[in-house]
This record gives sequence, C-alpha cells and structure tokens, in this order.
Amino acid sequence: MSIHSTQESVLQGIPVSPGIGIGPVHVVARGFSAPEVYEISEKDVESEQQRFRAALEETKVQLDELQERIKAISGEAESQIFEAHLMVLEDRAMLDRVADAIASRKQNAEFAFYAVMQHFLEAMRRVPDPYLRERTSDLEDVCQRVLRNFRPEDVVRHVAPDEQHVLVAYDLTPSDTVAINRRHVVGFATELGSVNSHTAILARSLGLPAIVGIEDAVLDIRTLTPSILDGYSGKLILHPSEETLARYRELRDRKEKVRQDLEAQRDALTATTDGRKITLSANIEFLDELALVTNSGAKGVGLYRTEFLLLDGEEMPGELEQTEAYTKLAKALSPHPVIIRTLDAGGDKLPVEPLTEPEPNPFLGWRGIRVSLDRPGMFKEQLRGILRASVHGKLAVMFPLVSGLSEVRRAKDYLKECMEELSKEGVPFDERLETGVMIELPSAAIVADLIAPEVDFFSIGTNDLIQYTVAVDRVNHHVANLYRPTHPAVVRLIKRTVDAAANAGIWTGVCGEMAGDIRLTPLLLGLGVEELSVGPHQVPRVRRAIRALSHAECAAMADEAIKTPLSNDIMDATVGLARKYYPELLE
Ligand code: PEP
Ligand code: MG
Repeated sequence: MSIHSTQESVLQGIPVSPGIGIGPVHVVARGFSAPEVYEISEKDVESEQQRFRAALEETKVQLDELQERIKAISGEAESQIFEAHLMVLEDRAMLDRVADAIASRKQNAEFAFYAVMQHFLEAMRRVPDPYLRERTSDLEDVCQRVLRNFRPEDVVRHVAPDEQHVLVAYDLTPSDTVAINRRHVVGFATELGSVNSHTAILARSLGLPAIVGIEDAVLDIRTLTPSILDGYSGKLILHPSEETLARYRELRDRKEKVRQDLEAQRDALTATTDGRKITLSANIEFLDELALVTNSGAKGVGLYRTEFLLLDGEEMPGELEQTEAYTKLAKALSPHPVIIRTLDAGGDKLPVEPLTEPEPNPFLGWRGIRVSLDRPGMFKEQLRGILRASVHGKLAVMFPLVSGLSEVRRAKDYLKECMEELSKEGVPFDERLETGVMIELPSAAIVADLIAPEVDFFSIGTNDLIQYTVAVDRVNHHVANLYRPTHPAVVRLIKRTVDAAANAGIWTGVCGEMAGDIRLTPLLLGLGVEELSVGPHQVPRVRRAIRALSHAECAAMADEAIKTPLSNDIMDATVGLARKYYPELLE
C-alpha cells in the first residue's frame, strides 16, 4: 500500500519516550547543509575573523537563554546538557583551527568553521561506543546554531501550526527538543536517534512521547496526515481508522491514569506488601542525568558508570576533575548513597588507551578491573578522586569484572594505600567508605562465599553475567534469542551470590538490565535481592511492582524456579506473578 493513500498504515520505529500523541503530522525538513564557500582576500582576513567571533558570541547568548529555559522546565541538571554545548564554543583546538583556516587558506568564516566541525563530527561518528556516538547530535546542534548566526537574515523561521500536532523530522537536536512548544506538539518521530541520545533523554524528562528510527519519514510522510504516535510500541499510525482512534483514545486515558498513579507514589516506601524493604536506586552514565534521578524518586545511584568520563579515546580526567564530578553526585543525592564503579573500559566499551594490536576476543580481554590493576597510577587517581569527594555525601566504591578474590584484595590494597596517602596529606575523606564488588562473571558468582567476607556489598551485573554464563555476546543480534535472563544457570548463580552474601551479613543488589524488567521483579525479589538499580525512567514502574508483590509468594515461586529445568518455564512463573499483581503495567 502506498504511504500516500488514505488507508490506515503503520510505520515502525524505536520507542524512546512513552505516551500517546494524536494529531495531524507536521513535517520539518532537514536543515543542516554546507554553507557556501568562497575565497577571501588578505585584507578581509580580519573582518572574517570578526564575523566568526560575532557568530560565536550570538550563539553563546542564545544557549544561555535556552539553558535558563530548560532550568525552569526541568531543573538544574538537564540544563547542564547545554553546558557541554557552551564548552564546544570555547574549545581552543576548534577556535585555533578555524582562525588558521581563515588566515592561511583564505576561506570565508562560515565555511572554515563548518569544515573544522565536520572533521570533529567525523571523529565522533567513528567512536565505537554507541552512547558516545549519540553525542554527535549535540555537536551538530552547536554547529547548526553557529552557522545560522552567520546570516541571521537568511533564517527561515519554521512556523509551527498552532493546533496540536505530531512533529516529524529527520533529526532533532537537544535544543530543538527543548524549544518545542509543548502546548502544540503532542509527540515527535525522527529518522535518526537512539534510546540513549540526549534528545531521547530530554523527551522523557519533558514527558513528550517520542519515536526514533523511522526510515524515510521526512520524505514519505506529508504534513497534515492524520496520525497517532505510540511512544510505547514505537508505532506511527497514519490515517488511523475511527476504530483505531477510539482504541488509542481509550489507551491514552488508561495510561494517563497509570502514570498519575505512579507519579503519586513517587515518595512511597519501596517495600513489598508483607513488609520487606527493597532499595530502589538508579543507574547513570552522565551527570546531566541527575535531574532524571532525583525526579524519579530513586533512593540514590546504584551504579555510576565512570568509563563515560573517558571521551573520544582521550585519557581519564585527572584526580581533581574526577573529584569535582563525584562531589556533584554526592551532594545532589545526599543523604542517599551513590555507588561509583571504577573504570570499566575495554570489551565493547571505550579503550582506555590504544592497544598495540587488536584483541582477538575483547570481551575476554583487557577490560574492567584488569585494566585498573595494570595501570595503578590511573587507578589510584580515580580512587583518590572518590575518597576526596566522599566527605560531601554518602559514596561507595565498586569494582567491575572481578573474577575472584585476589583481584578484590589487590584493588582494596590500592584503596588502603590511597587512604594512607591522603591522611598524610591532611586531606579529609570518609574512613568508612563502603566497598563492593560487581558479580558479573560466573567465576565470581561461584566463589562469592570467598569474596563476601571481605566486602560490604555485591551488585550483580546481569548484562555481563548472562553473556559469560551462556556464552552469548550481549551485543550480537544473531544470538539475541539465546540471551536469556531466566536461563537456569543464571538463576542459580544469582541465588548462589545472594546466599553467600546473606551468610556473610552483606546485601546483594542487581544493576544489570534485569533489574528494570518488571516481568522479572518477582523472581529477583524471591531470590533474595535487596536492592535494584535501574534506568531513571524505569524507577516508577519498578517501585509500583515492588509495592504490589508479596515477598513470601515471590520466594515460594523462586524456590520452585531454582528446580525448574527450562528457562521458558521460569519466565512463565515470574510473569505469572507480575500479571497477577500489576497487569496494567505489562500491557
Ligand atoms: C552489567 O554487566 O550488568 C552491568 C551493569 O555493567 P555494564 O552494563 O556497564 O557492563
Ligand atoms: Mg558489566
């Protein structure tokens, strides 16, 4: 069926922000093209440099304004996204290169700027880490804004219709997203983007339904086409029938009610109906997600992935810069705890330094704690940074990819050494800083009883634990159907870990994706997990799941699950309880 017929048709994208938007489509064209290039004469060099400075100044003023706006809507932390944009404008390497291109190549200022930015953008696009690659759109955002400011008179202002509509675009930059008029835009769909892009993060925090990854949307969809945007399933329905419309209106009302109920429970105790308290905390990668964490009502951060401090293959920031980042976190969440995981570089993540030869099996190679123990200088800078910040709130440190006790002991020795050094230097720190270990290798789970007496907590990294237990690459979609969180071996390893911890009197949490999957909450609680650390937007649903369940019932189910031979049956058992107690969340 042609997309231009008036029959109902469905385009499938990736849902990034939940909600239903109903209204005619408004398509905005792609607005980022190369500026004209022309040669300038020697006498124009100075005036071109001046035009460049003026465009930058104007951009800074606009970004300051935007920052104020987002601060008013979403709070301090979200506005930090634009802090990164402002930093781009002050980047010495960029400024020097543009000045040089104008002076030596005699290029007009906007082209010189465009060419330099393209160079940076290309480098960003090649970064293997998908999360960092997503930051390309931040850089594009700044670039586009500066280019517009060279010729403000040329900007054709996009006049949005003033009735409610669904915005369709090739890509939206974070500032476009903030600038969206929320009274009129009921949701947006883009061709580019991913779940982790800043645009998606902002959409979630603004409560704007959104879908990304709809191929050729801008070319194929016409403005004014009636539509429904389903931010739950990622569907964009064009020319919906009366019946579909009625169904979605009803779904929208029902979801809205669920949302309001979840919102009302924001500060409710996360305990089961029979009184077992569960700590519900959040996972973060970037400081600009802080507002999401505090808005979600999460009780602290259960996993801060510090490898995201490593940008674009550069080195880890120094001790004091790290102290600053950790202090921000500690202060923002105090009195709740923040668990800082030491650098987990390598594997599918950013390398900490270029390797002389590629590793044949990066997942089995130089990653996690192995890297830190091989680079004591770097490791100690991080530990000292954490210790310095520890006086500003409640911090804990956690070591990733530990395979057994000897690594734990070595890591703790470095921590002790750092404490002694800081004491000598007269630098205050929290002497009772808690130390935890990620259980994400089968070997660690098997010897959890040996490790438990020497640490304060365990946090199970199920993403890696599943991958290493069933030998299924977590990012390889060819084997995705074999990646099973309810595989009996995984369930038994979790149980073993929890039991070892309980025997030693310490607690066990889960910070892998399993923790945020509400189908699995009954199983994890039943196995005896005491903390769940999940993506900030998953917090309200997981809170509701915990509050609806009876721990005794979950434990009885988990006892059976341990003896159940097939993963599907274990999944059915846990989903059974989820359906019984919170069917409205599973739709
Ligand atoms: C995990 O492995 O489950 C985990 C939380 O760590 P990461 O996803 O960062 O490897
Ligand atoms: Mg991991």
